[in-house]
Amino acid sequence: MLAVNLRHVETHEIHLEGELSVEDLDFGLDDEMIRAEQPLRYDLTVQKLGHALLAQGRLQVTLNCQCVRCLTPFERPVALPHWTLLLPLAGDERPAVHDDCVDLTPFVREDMLLEFPAHPLCRPGCAGLKAITTAAARTAGERERFKSSAWAELDKLKL
Ligand SMILES: [Zn+2]
Repeated sequence: MLAVNLRHVETHEIHLEGELSVEDLDFGLDDEMIRAEQPLRYDLTVQKLGHALLAQGRLQVTLNCQCVRCLTPFERPVALPHWTLLLPLAGDERPAVHDDCVDLTPFVREDMLLEFPAHPLCRPGCAGLKAITTAAARTAGERERFKSSAWAELDKLKL
């Protein structure tokens, strides 16, 4: 739980730094390719702004992914370096308050989820298992062609 005590922010801003456990986060991922098995780190400044709560700071979690093309397991850090949450403390959208505390976890969860890769790739443009060998062959071929054309250009200069 990432709790903000409303009485603590009544007069001045507070700094919250720590980790949200995997259990608390509970992203509800039903995906073999993306797993959240590590806690989320937060580093936030929270203040009261009129009838709203303003939280600003950094959120970061490392996902354990599997490449959808070549099935290589890899870790992918996902961060919101300038996360901002403006939470109205009055009106219909006000959050639940328990013992003067508001839990920011659901808002963190929601915004982080949007940053998760839909189809994780081990590297940009991963072409998958079979294509890797073909791509390597093609690059070698292109290099040869470039070399021969470079020599052709040099030959022209010698004239
Ligand atoms: Zn891959």
